[in-house]
Amino acid sequence: MSTGPEERAGVTVTVDARWERGTGWTGPTAVVATPGGFRSRAGTDPAPTRHLTGVLLPGFRDAHVHLSLVDAEALHRGGLAAVDDLGGDPAVLSALAARSRAARSARSARSARSARSARSARSDRAAPLPEVRFAGAFLTAPGGYPSDRSWAPPGSVEEVDGPDEAVAAVDRQVDAGASFVKVALHTGAGPVPDDATLRAVVGRAHERGRTVVAHTEGAGQAERALVAGVDRLAHCPFSERLPERLVAAAARSQTWISTLDVHGWGAPTDQHAVALDNLTRFVAAGGTVVYGTDQGNGPLPVGVDERELVALLDAGLTLDPLLHALTSGPPPAALTLLPATRPGQGAPPEEVAAWLARARVLTAHDLLGPAPVPSPDQPLEVRP
Ligand SMILES: [Zn+2]
Repeated sequence: MSTGPEERAGVTVTVDARWERGTGWTGPTAVVATPGGFRSRAGTDPAPTRHLTGVLLPGFRDAHVHLSLVDAEALHRGGLAAVDDLGGDPAVLSALAARSRAARSARSARSARSARSARSARSDRAAPLPEVRFAGAFLTAPGGYPSDRSWAPPGSVEEVDGPDEAVAAVDRQVDAGASFVKVALHTGAGPVPDDATLRAVVGRAHERGRTVVAHTEGAGQAERALVAGVDRLAHCPFSERLPERLVAAAARSQTWISTLDVHGWGAPTDQHAVALDNLTRFVAAGGTVVYGTDQGNGPLPVGVDERELVALLDAGLTLDPLLHALTSGPPPAALTLLPATRPGQGAPPEEVAAWLARARVLTAHDLLGPAPVPSPDQPLEVRP
């Protein structure tokens, strides 16, 4: 068998099944792990050298987390390849995103070295982090939510008084590397930005090519966000039952982040019921929902949250739309590995959710290096 440098740089593995956005289900199939990441197998790739028991999917993303309030490494161990931080100090988040990128580069460089030499690579000392996108600071009215909250660290809130300050605040987040702009519209916890200020936030963010995410709370705030052109709601609306015309309009233009489990953490509250009803009609109207939990807010399981998945299935999502919700945004370099026992059609939501919650992040480095592949069927390995 030939052992040229090109072949040694990659490892071909077979897997029981694979799911990809657009392609759907295939398998058994082969993928190639290289120091630069995963790709589908091409004709010139080496023969498979090992078999992965399980199902490979794009890396899962939680579209609503707060990395100042939850451990990023633990989120990665819990099955999340990528996260969107929706409110924190942009300087801290920018540094964390850079750390995550640097750790991936170091891993791929080590993988390339170990693939080229007979010496086995040493285990990595730094624990891997999810890929991070962030909104930066909450933009809010002076004295508005969450400026008075003890959990909001310094730098995580910018109080904007009028359109000019709103534009400047948007620019500061974007210049710090923000992928989104977050605006707080919470009438129960202080003043909210007026219409002119809200329009300025949305207008400037869109000029800079950024999506606007709103925290809406209090009757009428979801409608305000929709009218102002807000692209994404940080929480499925939970303050009031939205009228059909509003749900239909939102389904045409907005993405909603689910965050259903945050209403009671397993003991569903009235707000959970309102949110589930709104989401069920949003899904039926063709709206785009993405998986998000508000990690850092309350006693959520750190990682993929089984209860959030059950709620999404209860809202009318079937398995494929749920997988789309779990893999929102740009695909991370890492993949998700799930046990091979895929629930059959018609399986109860609890069974589907329990399967998905066993997700493990699989990096190309896991297959190229000497360390064992993380298995969804085994307890988490604790590495020094
Ligand atoms: Zn949040």
